[in-house]
Amino acid sequence: MNSNIAKIKSCYGCGVCAAVCPHRIIDIRLNSEGYYEPRVMDADSCTGCGLCVSVCSYSHDGMAQRQSPKECYAAWSEDEEIRKSCSSGGVGYELVRTLLSEEYKVAGVRYDAETNRAVHYIADTEEKAKATMGSKYIQSYTVDAFRQIDRKQKYLVTGTPCQIDSFRRYIQKFRCEENFVLMDFFCHGVPSMNLWKKYSKEAEKTTGEIVEVSWRNKTFGWHDSWDMNIHGKRREEDVNWHDSYNLLITEKKSFVSSRWSQGDLFFKMFLSNSCLGKACYAKCKFKGKPHRQI
Ligand SMILES: Cc1cc2nc3c(=O)[nH]c(=O)nc-3n(C[C@H](O)[C@H](O)[C@H](O)COP(=O)(O)OP(=O)(O)OC[C@H]3O[C@@H](n4cnc5c(N)ncnc54)[C@H](O)[C@@H]3O)c2cc1C
Repeated sequence: MNSNIAKIKSCYGCGVCAAVCPHRIIDIRLNSEGYYEPRVMDADSCTGCGLCVSVCSYSHDGMAQRQSPKECYAAWSEDEEIRKSCSSGGVGYELVRTLLSEEYKVAGVRYDAETNRAVHYIADTEEKAKATMGSKYIQSYTVDAFRQIDRKQKYLVTGTPCQIDSFRRYIQKFRCEENFVLMDFFCHGVPSMNLWKKYSKEAEKTTGEIVEVSWRNKTFGWHDSWDMNIHGKRREEDVNWHDSYNLLITEKKSFVSSRWSQGDLFFKMFLSNSCLGKACYAKCKFKGKPHRQI
């Protein structure tokens, strides 16, 4: 096995290798295809401790924890405002606020307008945690937040299954699992940031400077009537199919709303699997059986 992650390319881009490195010589950077992958910034300072490889989900077969659900529930938030702001039924946020009230901090994802990307951040109040609501359908940059986590305190950490699997290896390594609640979700895969940058640049021609993005916006209703397929053609079997894939891009004074059913290009590319990371196609251990075994 390699002593560090220098040779790892096109991985999950979870950033846990960078967070765990005791010398802080690893970062994750977007590669030419628009996906995060690790870079060893100062190879001479590497002591070959191997921590980065040991927590890397991509470098290991199998899961950090066996997938054996104890119990399963279908649920949604009873708070209408939360259901409206969240992508699905808002259960993720209900867990966030419950654990905040039990002295946990939260490592979740917000959209950062300054860098036009999704970033993990730490929230210790409900006010700060509100930005975690809603799925940001782009790959999140995790490193700053994961580095800030104090292993002696209690945290809820949310993320894609691959981010969470590496993070679990990290807390197993340091024997502090009891301080953490980890929450992932069914994941379609992450689209390329090259696509998002081009798409948002086009949108900015209409909106001006972007201040907020909502990928599953419910302002105009939860459901999006589906009258054509991803190739722009109406299909009989799709006629009664509904969803809320409505991208709302907001600037200071106006907004752009764009729906999958009306041919939104970002969703067309994302949901037709035309722009996912190499690891999502070739090496995702979380799709299919393990996550559907319920
Ligand atoms: C990239 C991506 C792909 C997904 N693919 C599917 C799918 O194929 N099928 C399916 O059923 N569900 C998928 N989901 C999950 C779905 O969108 C909802 O998040 C989920 O149903 C929970 O909904 P909610 O209303 O409880 O919470 P939400 O309001 O959606 O928020 C849930 C949590 O997701 C976290 N989060 C948001 N964006 C990101 C991100 N970019 N990376 C990591 N964590 C993030 C937030 O921190 C928050 O705590 C996907 C989510 C993402 C981010």
